Amino acid sequence: MESSRADLVIVGAGAAGLLAAVAARRLGDEVIVVESASLAGGATINGDGAMWLPGNGVMAKAGTPDTPAAAADYLHALLGAPSDATQAARREAFIRTAPKLARWLASSKMPLQVAKSTADLYPMLPGAKPQGRTLQAGPLDRRVLGGFEEALLPEPRRSFGALDRLPLPRRTSEGGESLVAHLLHRAVANGVQLWLDSTLTELVTTDSAVSGVIVDRDGMSVEIAAAKVLLAGGGYERSQTLRDEHLPLPTDVAWTTTATNNDGRLLSLASGIGAATANLTDAWWTPVAVIDGQAYDVTPALRAPHSVLVDSAGDRYTDETGSGDDLGRAMYDHSRSVRAIPSYLIMDNRHRQSCALGPWKAGNTPRRALDEDHISRANTLNDLAQTTGLYRAGLLGTVVRFNNFAAKGNDSDFGRGQPDESTKGKAKADLGKIDKPPFWAIKVYPGDTGTKGGLVTDANWRVLRSDNSAVPGLYACAGTAASLFPGASPAPGAGLGEALVGAFLAVTDQR
Ligand SMILES: Cc1cc2nc3c(=O)[nH]c(=O)nc-3n(C[C@H](O)[C@H](O)[C@H](O)COP(=O)(O)OP(=O)(O)OC[C@H]3O[C@@H](n4cnc5c(N)ncnc54)[C@H](O)[C@@H]3O)c2cc1C
Repeated sequence: MESSRADLVIVGAGAAGLLAAVAARRLGDEVIVVESASLAGGATINGDGAMWLPGNGVMAKAGTPDTPAAAADYLHALLGAPSDATQAARREAFIRTAPKLARWLASSKMPLQVAKSTADLYPMLPGAKPQGRTLQAGPLDRRVLGGFEEALLPEPRRSFGALDRLPLPRRTSEGGESLVAHLLHRAVANGVQLWLDSTLTELVTTDSAVSGVIVDRDGMSVEIAAAKVLLAGGGYERSQTLRDEHLPLPTDVAWTTTATNNDGRLLSLASGIGAATANLTDAWWTPVAVIDGQAYDVTPALRAPHSVLVDSAGDRYTDETGSGDDLGRAMYDHSRSVRAIPSYLIMDNRHRQSCALGPWKAGNTPRRALDEDHISRANTLNDLAQTTGLYRAGLLGTVVRFNNFAAKGNDSDFGRGQPDESTKGKAKADLGKIDKPPFWAIKVYPGDTGTKGGLVTDANWRVLRSDNSAVPGLYACAGTAASLFPGASPAPGAGLGEALVGAFLAVTDQR
């Protein structure tokens, strides 16, 4: 077997892994990042790259200053007291480090701005920021990536080889691609070794401490000796077996929007050497439609007027404009009494003409989508109920009732469209009658943007055993670590926010 050596091995070249690599290299470490895909960026690259970093100084410059104390109040109101002293220390470390990390990113010449439409998800709670605490990275000129430009191909170029021949835009698009591009640039410029097509297959231990890894690199086994190993390889969203074992049922690997190699192997390897796990029943829920085997987030379509979400009885059961996380939970809760998985998004033609849905632009529904039953269309609600198998009287009654609410501008059942702190007292424009044919229906499933459970870590993101002792040499962050936010998501970008803070703390531990 070939062998190599580093101070730090990082598993996963998503945003968290790349950030950890840059931070460690700046502290003088020899760093190898192993990534099983042939491209860098993980799930981060196709997302919005929204980072919830409360207390950051960018907000003050934008005229909405924030404090760590307000963030602590908000998390306390949303999640209650931490479950134990370790979780209390982690939460405190996150709140303390988030502003520091935002400063560190800015000092690394990453242009940061407060992201639009990313209000805290529960603006009525104490400490909430209706203007949002979420940051995004501005674009980067790809040419600075030199030979590594090819390691950073955004969708759809990854899936459709034909597009590879088209020139890439000079600047990266705002969001996840820019975040990854900046981090990749810093990593490569600072001398981080990035091993693509390299999958972690084993953790090597010496006297119960992790002392290295074994990696399958292009079909060859390579052992890398390292003082420290950071697992930043996502959760288990791509494993049907682990989903069936842990997540609420039914569940399907096709319902995750994550298109990476996050198959839970890192959790199994760490558990195999005594690491504890937590929150495995939870995920970053988001309602999805599944078209040609691919999951599409339909949260924006659920929020648009002239539509409702119904169960198999044709009844509404939640405020469709809630967060993706709330909607996913509501689907599972409701399905205990009525079949609600899948639920159906019912739309009138104004909705289909004005709102994108899955892969289809507003006003464009391909014939094939109808022929292959990806979406249903009918001239009357009666016929739509027949085509979809929804309970006819239930659906008709629901739409009559909802249209009445829309006429009055008040959803007495679920409060959809009510003004809140984020709308400054104005009603949201998401009520609207469903009365212009043809009518449309699409199945909606409780999908996810990743799993939330994972390895238990301390406030330096060191992996812990069930007796709370640390596994020496082993750290975990992002999807591989149990989330700081079990049971609820505070804001858009919370996943990436905690992933990056954890990565930062893991490499700066004891430095
Ligand atoms: C469409 C979409 C949009 C999203 N938008 C946002 C957003 O705006 N804000 C937010 O907070 N969150 C968002 N999320 C969730 C977000 O992707 C995660 O919070 C974030 O990507 C976590 O980054 P990461 O670096 O931990 O993991 P990932 O980006 O998942 O990277 C993990 C990497 O590890 C690699 N890997 C896995 N197993 C191995 C192995 N055995 N050996 C080697 N490599 C391995 C994977 O190939 C992958 O590249 C989004 C998710 C999706 C799917």
